Amino acid sequence: MTNTTSNTCELVWDNCLKIIKDNVNAQSYKTWFEPIKPVKLEGSILTIQVPSQFFYEWLEEHYVSLLRKTIKRELGNDARLEYQIIVDNNSNHNPYTINIPTYAAPASKNPDVAAPLVLGTPIKNPFIIPGLKKVNIDSQLNNAYTFDSYVEGDCNRLARSAGYAVASKPGGTSFNPLVIYGGVGLGKTHLAQAIGNMVKQNFSNKTVLFVPSEKFTNQFIDALKNNGVNDFIHFYQLIDVLIVDDIQFFANKDRTQDIFFHIFNHLHQSGKQLVLTSDRPPRDLEGMEERLLSRFKWGLSADLGTPDFETRIAILEKKMYNDGIDLPREVVEFVAYNISNNIRELEGALISLLAQASLNRKEIDVELAKKIVKNFVKSISREVSIDYIQKAVCEYFSVQPDKLKEKTRKRSVVQARQLSMYLAKNFTKNSLKVIGRHFGGRDHSTVIHSCQAVKDMMDTDKDFRESVVELEKKIQLSIS
Ligand code: ADP
Ligand code: MG
Repeated sequence: MTNTTSNTCELVWDNCLKIIKDNVNAQSYKTWFEPIKPVKLEGSILTIQVPSQFFYEWLEEHYVSLLRKTIKRELGNDARLEYQIIVDNNSNHNPYTINIPTYAAPASKNPDVAAPLVLGTPIKNPFIIPGLKKVNIDSQLNNAYTFDSYVEGDCNRLARSAGYAVASKPGGTSFNPLVIYGGVGLGKTHLAQAIGNMVKQNFSNKTVLFVPSEKFTNQFIDALKNNGVNDFIHFYQLIDVLIVDDIQFFANKDRTQDIFFHIFNHLHQSGKQLVLTSDRPPRDLEGMEERLLSRFKWGLSADLGTPDFETRIAILEKKMYNDGIDLPREVVEFVAYNISNNIRELEGALISLLAQASLNRKEIDVELAKKIVKNFVKSISREVSIDYIQKAVCEYFSVQPDKLKEKTRKRSVVQARQLSMYLAKNFTKNSLKVIGRHFGGRDHSTVIHSCQAVKDMMDTDKDFRESVVELEKKIQLSIS
């Protein structure tokens, strides 16, 4: 009996997967659908198991309509999907919760790539540098950059988990290369180094090398000048985990790209791990050879976003803890609130604060923090707050702001509430969870639902659409 049930549930899910596969790109499919396990089918309710809360939220946010359509096609109009979330009962030291598919030969698996993995021009008799042994290679890592000191948040969860997976099994996951991208000061170098440090700790026989792309370029130019290109190639071919930081600087350097392409191929083909960082997603890298870009797509590209308020506080607190400092909570909050899109600046402000306090023998309070932060950011960041949005919307629809947090189902209130959520999602960097909290503790799925409802209504109701546009203008004005 149970057997048949589980069989049918797997069958149904298999059919769903076939449809999904046709509707999402290969990378998304691999990342978000392969790890799902069908659990049971009761009537028209299919339960699937997902590896984490984050994973679930991601599916709900990005794939809810596809999932809904697919499952209705399989199970009829009453079909419902339920999730079972694996609770992470690993210790705190193991943040790795996403189920990583194991390594598969990329050339055969990846439909984007037809070319077989061969070296473009054969490297003839690589000259072996006398005495150069793998053990002698200095990794160029900074051992302060570890996973332990890297705070996890919504902004970096995928990249961090993928990095952790790669460091646990270098060359043995499908995340090869792992491309970590994101804006300045958001932790790319830290994370890339953390991978290197962890590999070194766990696999003493593996050779790790961290190299900024400019250094790679300069070494190559030197090699060209000194007739040492073979040495150069040979050196890089010895590496088991090659981490190249800021690959955007390879742009328009054709010969460097060419040599990197050969090294990349050689390492990848030998099952070695590549980790690359970039200040933008691979698809936006200009001045880069197409064949190189297509290589980058073989693995996983994971972005680092700007950390939300809670993560910023956690980062400051971690830093304070590591340095043995204690600051009033309100000071920490002030700094975290006002410096929002660069973690390096966040740390810089903390350091200046401490320096000022000790030089002038002043107590560290919000007043001092205000002075420091002012010097730090050109204009104090003016992200619009959820409160402001709520007020603006309520004023517009003549609704009492408190009502948004209550359970009222009155139409005008519901509309104002849904629209406020929608605007909060679009105009602030808050997570769905945080937004929900501002509306009387509603959960993130209510926020998703509200956003969808607003979009639907904008499609069908012209007056409503105009109201939204007007409110958007008002909010935009308040921040510019
Ligand atoms: P990027 O390479 O993206 O410009 P970095 O890796 O140099 O940024 O990070 C800037 C600073 O912020 C570093 O001191 C780093 O340790 C710190 N940092 C970044 N992300 C985190 C994080 N998630 N947790 C703790 N510190 C972080
Ligand atoms: Mg960097």
